[in-house]
This record gives sequence, structure tokens and C-alpha cells, in this order.
Amino acid sequence: MSKAPQPSGLSNWYLPGIFKGLWYTLTNMIKNIFNRKAMPTLNYPEEKYNYSSRFKGNHILTVKKDGSLRCTACMLCATNCPAQCITIEASEHEDPTVEKFPIKYEIDVLRCVYCGFCEEACPVDAVRMGPEWQTPGYGDANFNYDITKLAYRPNLKGGIQSSLDDKERHEAGI
Ligand code: SF4
Ligand code: SF4
Repeated sequence: MSKAPQPSGLSNWYLPGIFKGLWYTLTNMIKNIFNRKAMPTLNYPEEKYNYSSRFKGNHILTVKKDGSLRCTACMLCATNCPAQCITIEASEHEDPTVEKFPIKYEIDVLRCVYCGFCEEACPVDAVRMGPEWQTPGYGDANFNYDITKLAYRPNLKGGIQSSLDDKERHEAGI
């Protein structure tokens, strides 16, 4: 039986490998400093990646023309959510033409897998996945987004109107 080849004395010693790695890092660092445009990475958070307009980020609850929630508390989104992170509590509406509406609508975004099933399941364009993808927060941050956060956070500027206005809704018989 032939013996396995033995490593040379030099390859048993780890310092050449360390210096090779440091030399590689140093040359790439100098290359990147003098040719920043060719860098394959971004200097986040100063530079941010521009995702497609179809990107499915943080949720938005849309509103009607009068600013009230479009959601009819039908529970389809919560039923279809694979992470079971949507909590809805329905209540009767004082308007007899409105069957019910959510007095509580919460999404636990730390459990959400951003699959988009809620948006797909909604029959009235009441929940959408928007372009926001940054969800930072310290230890005491609340990642259980409520109606105020989902529909009326400041960057939504009073709320995003549903594409399904009342006239279209009646015509569609929804
Ligand atoms: S994106 Fe998916 S996991 Fe997140 S709330 Fe919607 S259905 Fe649930
Ligand atoms: S967001 Fe849409 S699917 Fe979910 S409860 Fe409201 S109306 Fe139903």
C-alpha cells in the first residue's frame, strides 16, 4: 500500500497563508479606494439599492376617498397568511350599508415572511405590499404594526387610496 503524500514543511506553517490573505485584502482595498465606481458593493446606509417598483416590502392598508379604511374585515388575508401573523378584530359599522370593519388590524412583521399572499387574497385592494424595505428598531421597538402604522404612517401622507373606488365596487358587485 502506497503512503499518502506528506505536506511540505512550509505548508505546515500558517504565516504565509495569513500574509497572502492580508496582501489580497490590501490590494483590493486600494483598488476600491481609487476606483469606487467599480465596487460591487454599496456604502449602505449612505447609498441605497433601488429595488423594482414591484418590490414587496412593508404592508399598507389602503383607504377610501373619505380616508376611512378600505378593509371589510373579511379575514381572507389572515386565513391565507402562512405565518399566521395577521390579527383582525371586526366590528359592526354605524353605516347600515357597510357590513363590518376592522377595529383592530395588526401584522407582526417579525413573523411575516413577505410572501404577498395577504395582498393576493384581498378582494378589495385593502392591503398592499409597498416599496419600503427598511424596518429598523431598537430592542424596545414595536414590530406589531397596528392600523395607525399600516394606514396612516407619516410617509403615506394621509393614506394610500384604494384603486377600487365605491362606484367600481358596486359595479363589480363586491
Ligand atoms: S406577506 Fe405573507 S406572511 Fe406576511 S402578512 Fe402577508 S400573507 Fe402573512
Ligand atoms: S385586508 Fe382585505 S382580505 Fe384582509 S380582512 Fe381586509 S378586506 Fe379582507
